[in-house]
Amino acid sequence: MKYEGVIIRPPSEAHSLILQVTVGCSHNKCIFCPAYKAKRFRIKSLNEIKEDIDEARTYAQRLRRVFLTDGDALIIPQPRLLEILIYLNEKFPTLQRIGIYGNAKSVLRKSIDELRELKENKLGIIYLGIESGDEETLKSVHKGVTREKMVEAARRVKEAGIKLSVTVLLGVAGATRSMIHAEETARIVTDIQPDYVGALTLMIIPEAPLYRMVEEGTFTLPSPFELLKELRTMIAESNLHNCLFFSNHASNYLPIRARLPKDKESSLKLIDEVLSSGDESLLTPEYLRAL
Ligand code: SF4
Repeated sequence: MKYEGVIIRPPSEAHSLILQVTVGCSHNKCIFCPAYKAKRFRIKSLNEIKEDIDEARTYAQRLRRVFLTDGDALIIPQPRLLEILIYLNEKFPTLQRIGIYGNAKSVLRKSIDELRELKENKLGIIYLGIESGDEETLKSVHKGVTREKMVEAARRVKEAGIKLSVTVLLGVAGATRSMIHAEETARIVTDIQPDYVGALTLMIIPEAPLYRMVEEGTFTLPSPFELLKELRTMIAESNLHNCLFFSNHASNYLPIRARLPKDKESSLKLIDEVLSSGDESLLTPEYLRAL
């Protein structure tokens, strides 16, 4: 497989074949994101992609899952993306699900019928980075999309019958807007009703533009316990009807895996116990945290 640069995938795609169909991210402006800053965005040619699929076919005949990366692979124009899915289905008859990273812009470039067409060709899940429901925070981190567009994109994915996994980012609003960010994020996930919510914790990495702002003192990361309060608020103030909410990513201080609403009370109880103890040793130590 001819991977270019560092390859990133959601934790839940650990057992999938990772197929790189784009290089980098077409937006690439979010100031907290170090992921693709060194990559110039391009869509790989169909030949390159088919060669990788053919190679994978030689050692993974009974493949069940494929994940398409990089950043927002969903930005690929519909005819090309469809051809990739059809080729994958041809080569892997046992294939059950294809996953992909998307952002609101790439989702909104597709009609519901186009998304349904992808779904018919086994596109089963879209991973959408929401980060925050707070309009001001979205603007300040250069997310490049409004809250309203995010909700509209999510609605389109769900209407097409594709599973939706969203990520929210603890700490992304800094210390000053920490609680507003948490409350507004609870509100947006309630509006969206995704199948999965993954809460990650912001880590300040030198490759991300935010790193310089931290050095200059214009951005302050909330403390670990303040981040835990954000997590608590997101769980407490959201009203999710049937959602798997997890904060078990390696960046987080306290791993939670909750089926909401069923596990709401037990999750809040666990967070409250840690918060009221004030005991930092109950949190994931810094040396074990990673992106
Ligand atoms: S967070 Fe997502 S949309 Fe923003 S730069 Fe990183 S990969 Fe691109």
